[in-house]
Amino acid sequence: MNEKKYPSVIISGLGISGLITASLLCKEKIKVECFEPIDISKFHADQRTTAFLNPAIGVFKEIGIWGEIEPFSQPLKEMEIIDAGSKERAGPASVVFEPKEVNIENFGFNVPNSILRLELLGWLKKNQNFVLNVGDPIVKHYAFDDNIVVRTEKGKELNGKLLISCEGRESAIRKREKINTIKTSYNQLAMVFQVSHSKKHKDRTTEILDVGGPFTIIPLRTTSKQSKSTVVWMDNADVINEAYSLENEEFDTLVSKKSLGIRGNIKLVGKRQKWPVSSQLSKTLVSKRTVLIAESAHVMPPTGAQGLNTSVEDIIALHNICKTALKNNEDIGSERVLRRYNIKRFLLTGSKVFGIHLLNKISMTENSFLRIARKNFLMYLNQSSLVRKTLIKAGLGK
Ligand SMILES: Cc1cc2nc3c(=O)[nH]c(=O)nc-3n(C[C@H](O)[C@H](O)[C@H](O)COP(=O)(O)OP(=O)(O)OC[C@H]3O[C@@H](n4cnc5c(N)ncnc54)[C@H](O)[C@@H]3O)c2cc1C
Repeated sequence: MNEKKYPSVIISGLGISGLITASLLCKEKIKVECFEPIDISKFHADQRTTAFLNPAIGVFKEIGIWGEIEPFSQPLKEMEIIDAGSKERAGPASVVFEPKEVNIENFGFNVPNSILRLELLGWLKKNQNFVLNVGDPIVKHYAFDDNIVVRTEKGKELNGKLLISCEGRESAIRKREKINTIKTSYNQLAMVFQVSHSKKHKDRTTEILDVGGPFTIIPLRTTSKQSKSTVVWMDNADVINEAYSLENEEFDTLVSKKSLGIRGNIKLVGKRQKWPVSSQLSKTLVSKRTVLIAESAHVMPPTGAQGLNTSVEDIIALHNICKTALKNNEDIGSERVLRRYNIKRFLLTGSKVFGIHLLNKISMTENSFLRIARKNFLMYLNQSSLVRKTLIKAGLGK
């Protein structure tokens, strides 16, 4: 086999980003060897669902797994924002964004993380270009002009053309490469849980703004008649910790009140999970024969469904750059090729992290002037279809 045409890539970290990256590269006949320290069967414990925008759905179709995922995925038809936060102005203000305003059928789909991981891993395991190492993380790597060599905790040594870090926000590769990050913490936590509710969701996602952060109700697809949703509640750490420790009955009452009754009586289904909220941006996305993608490169608060969707944009860009390099007989780990990736993604990811940081600051503000301005802006959006369309396109990354 021609080594230049079918090079080896090493991926460290098999969260959803690592799994998608591995799948797309395996499709290019690239040999992909992956390292994941955690027992992959524990992945089922992830209660989260991800609101994937249409480009990500396109990737699942390209891999060939969308047919298996779609029956579990809820189309996202409408997005409502309610401002409940300013007591200086009577009554909540709200705005509804509809996909038909920008001539699309829906904004995307809400997909359970556990199903997506299962399908991606199942697809990969059937691919002869995929090699999986579980419980044996990479602890050292050395980049040379022609290749990169990694060594694992158990002493395995391997070389490839390119090392991709999909290790998440605490990436060890990034630390070994001494790549600094700019980080902001908000003293916020995000609590995620699933609920059933007495009123139908009618395919609508609702984000309620108050103080402390957004409270978002995202519809779920169910086979029963019972309407269900995932809730992502971002708030000050104290508020979340207190709500987390409540008995189920008290918790249901609090959540029904917090959701302003728009989904009727709410009942917790399953467990509550807490996640830290922060922003982080890596000062570069590449170093010698190494590339950082997804949360290794950028972390943003879970508002506006941008985190994993931005990671999918990284993966699409890297995939296209590698495909072109292979076609032109170039070394996919060379400085020239990786520089293309850095130029393509660095400013875009930086501006997205900054934009979501600002949105989060506005959604959690206690400043009464800003809260009045926020509410007035929502009311103004109801009258300006042009600004609404512009915002929808920005949210969709267009
Ligand atoms: C509450 C919540 C809701 C969200 N909702 C949305 C949404 O609706 N839409 C959206 O686009 N985004 C959403 N996000 C963001 C999204 O979930 C994250 O961007 C995504 O999970 C990050 O995936 P990742 O693969 O980059 O990192 P991770 O999921 O953190 O995966 C990293 C992997 O690397 C492994 N690892 C760690 N260290 C090492 C090492 N040294 N060596 C090898 N492997 C290592 C880990 O075990 C893990 O498997 C949400 C986030 C939260 C917290």
